[in-house]
Amino acid sequence: MEVDPVDLAVKLIACPSVTPADAGALSVLSDALMALDFEVHDLTFSAPGTDPVRNIYAHRGIAGPHIMYAGHTDVVPPGDKAQWSTDPFTPVVQNGILIGRGANDMKASIAAFVAAVSRLDREWPGTISLLITGDEEGVAVNGTAKVLPWMAESGFRPDMCIVGEPSSAKALGDMIKIGRRGSLSGTVSVNGAQGHVAYPHLADNPIPRLIRLAVALDALELDKGNDWFQPSNLEITSIDVGNPATNVIPARGSFKFNIRFNDTYHSSDLIEKIRQALDAASDNREFDLNIHVSGEAFLTRPGKLSTLVSEAVHHVTGRTPELSTTGGTSDARFIRHYCPVVECGLVGLTMHKIDEQVPVADVLALSEIYQRIMERAA
Ligand SMILES: [Zn+2]
Repeated sequence: MEVDPVDLAVKLIACPSVTPADAGALSVLSDALMALDFEVHDLTFSAPGTDPVRNIYAHRGIAGPHIMYAGHTDVVPPGDKAQWSTDPFTPVVQNGILIGRGANDMKASIAAFVAAVSRLDREWPGTISLLITGDEEGVAVNGTAKVLPWMAESGFRPDMCIVGEPSSAKALGDMIKIGRRGSLSGTVSVNGAQGHVAYPHLADNPIPRLIRLAVALDALELDKGNDWFQPSNLEITSIDVGNPATNVIPARGSFKFNIRFNDTYHSSDLIEKIRQALDAASDNREFDLNIHVSGEAFLTRPGKLSTLVSEAVHHVTGRTPELSTTGGTSDARFIRHYCPVVECGLVGLTMHKIDEQVPVADVLALSEIYQRIMERAA
């Protein structure tokens, strides 16, 4: 039974699965996969202080190669529904364009993969699996990060993974992602002593020190980039004193920054570098540094997997994809600890936007790309 990718995409989009809600999306997908003889494991994970989230791991075959497709059925909220040209969860196809929340990030991609599997020759020798989470757009605690160790314990070991996130920039297949930069956010706070501006000798203004520290971080040249990554970049994102008065020296101030860093660094090296720069600029005065690392940089070195995917993209679209490490983070950051991973999906121009959409032709072509990848892998 061949699956129509647009049909399946429409059914998935019709489930309003805004993180952490599943709204039936994974049941729609499970049914489609079970009809294709997949064994589906329904995995709900929870943790204190977070919402429980449903995930599935579906599996067919026993021999190698084992190709895994990874993705998510959760979506971001639709925003102001009145601005949409259709109800965001009542998808429509207009003039060859599928419109609805999750159309390109990334329900149509999942549907394209399932359709590709349905067309695959049943004599195809390998193993296919799908890791689909409902927790990618949120805190990403109860999703892929927990399914992967469960898989390892259960003896499910993929040889390679395709993440179906919208990796294309302007045209389908013009870009695939072979890695991602890491991301780190920090807050620097300094204490002073509050007082009247007319009596500064009785106060201690934290603002000049705060600015010196911010300037010191902003002046850091982290690296020059390398063959596969742009230079690491630090941005000061906010300076906060919260002082509504013009005649008061405030007691405390802070600034925030974010660093997108390449594989020159592990976050711990970078934190050390930041601390040294702040120490040097602080004139031995105290400051607080708070850092949150949301992901390390990683790279799947161009090789077998990127060649396999590039060839399939070229075969279907005529384009040779750029091997890129740009953009935000994705669940590939968890998967890369288990097997080589490449992201290959739709054009992401409208993801998270009003009237999120995808050309039906792209969905069909992506499905052919996925089919070709599987065929050529075995
Ligand atoms: Zn996504």
